[in-house]
Amino acid sequence: MAILNILEFPDPRLRTVAKPVESVDDDLRRLIDDMFETMYAAPGIGLAATQVNVHQRLVVMDLSEDKSEPRVFINPEFEPLTAELGPYQEGCLSVPGFYENVERPLQVRIRALDRDGQPFELVAEGLLAVCIQHECDHLNGKLFVDYLSTLKRDRIRKKLEKQHRQHG
Ligand SMILES: [Zn+2]
Repeated sequence: MAILNILEFPDPRLRTVAKPVESVDDDLRRLIDDMFETMYAAPGIGLAATQVNVHQRLVVMDLSEDKSEPRVFINPEFEPLTAELGPYQEGCLSVPGFYENVERPLQVRIRALDRDGQPFELVAEGLLAVCIQHECDHLNGKLFVDYLSTLKRDRIRKKLEKQHRQHG
């Protein structure tokens, strides 16, 4: 397995719209394993392929405290099951060090393929609902900072650009 490089805002490659995965094969499963290793090492709870500069519709996630609940979502789609929005403080491995409240639907239905290519469906609330919406945004080239005011987003962008200049 390998730890992959995570793109950071405002890298324009994070704006790429990912293409659907066409076949769930061993190459894809190797990428999935690398993404888990990268996410756990960061550490983080979710990672979209977009963030490691692979523009396929693939998300890995583990919301447990002890790395015991790895979840794979291939070609994920969600639909809100309620119009009710709730704020949740979000962070992102591509926007390191910044946490801001974002309003999203509180309950969603998720459809995706698992790592064997089998379709599954689940109803999500709480952190899982937030996380899948955040990760699906990545696959569409969108970041949580896009929900913030221009002022806040620019402040974050400038701080990260400064860090990137200092650390290469
Ligand atoms: Zn993210």
